Amino acid sequence: MDYMKLAVDKTIEWMNENIGGPFGAAVVRGDEIIAVTGNRVIADTDPSQHAEMAAIREACQRLGTTDLSDCVIYATCEPCPMCVSVIIWSGIKEVYYCNTAEDAHKHGFSDLHLRDYLTGKDKSVLKMVKVPAREDCDYLFEHFHRLKENK
Ligand SMILES: [Zn+2]
Repeated sequence: MDYMKLAVDKTIEWMNENIGGPFGAAVVRGDEIIAVTGNRVIADTDPSQHAEMAAIREACQRLGTTDLSDCVIYATCEPCPMCVSVIIWSGIKEVYYCNTAEDAHKHGFSDLHLRDYLTGKDKSVLKMVKVPAREDCDYLFEHFHRLKENK
């Protein structure tokens, strides 16, 4: 089965319906197709709805778990750092991609500012401010452990 082709076909279908941009993804477990999506940023008015995010959300909902460690993901384009993060959070250990971040950049879909921020090359895109310690924030961990103990 050509899983990349499934992702490509879904991407074209969703681009035609103005759901999202030229990116698609498929989550696969063994030879079972779990989720095939395109990018949903436009339709959902959601900057986090990249194809990989949409595919992982759909796969997790379908399987009823946040653990996709027995799955792999096919992405029509090299995943951006946000998607790489979620891929890792979900436990997926293999990504197959075709177009590169440089290809996307050439077509106006650059994630280079994000990559530069994360590598420390350019920290000007985001101001991160550590505020002084607060009891209410600190209490959240305590509350979590209390709930866990009472289960
Ligand atoms: Zn992404």
